[in-house]
Amino acid sequence: MNVTAIYPGTFDPITLGHVDLVCRASRIFDRVILAVAESKAKTPLFDFAERLELAREAVADLVNVEVVGFNSLLVDCARTHGATVILRGLRAVSDFEFEFQMAGMNRSLGPEIETIFLTPGESYAFLSSSVIREIAKFGGDVSAFVPGHVRAALVRKFAVSG
Ligand code: ADP
Repeated sequence: MNVTAIYPGTFDPITLGHVDLVCRASRIFDRVILAVAESKAKTPLFDFAERLELAREAVADLVNVEVVGFNSLLVDCARTHGATVILRGLRAVSDFEFEFQMAGMNRSLGPEIETIFLTPGESYAFLSSSVIREIAKFGGDVSAFVPGHVRAALVRKFAVSG
């Protein structure tokens, strides 16, 4: 069986927690599609093109991982790319309620697609893109939590916007 998983998110920006999850998934599934949501309503710090580029560079070494952008229903994006699994990360119980609701909605919209959850390595369990943005905004060191090129992009972003 050839199984493709789709890993959707805002990735504003991609962190080592996301990369940890993608690495784990790339060992389980034949193909992993990291799908960056345009998420205009969230007014992301990095625009769509920047988030796609940062994600592409972060997973460039993983041969069975591709990065795509989407601005549609997730199940439609999954179908377009032949994915039968939606992959999401669970860090703590606090993630559960929202993820449970999303998994239920996605199941009713796409009954042929299963949502599967992975947990990150323990050093990434407290990591989120929003915490990274906050630390970087105040000049804190995020080098243990994001790839080097993401750290550089954060430094540039806050140097420009203050
Ligand atoms: P979204 O806006 O869809 O929540 P995110 O980019 O914040 O997008 O997260 C995408 C997915 O990655 C979600 O399933 C989230 O739970 C998961 N995730 C985020 N950070 C981590 C982390 N540190 N470890 C594992 N999973 C994570």
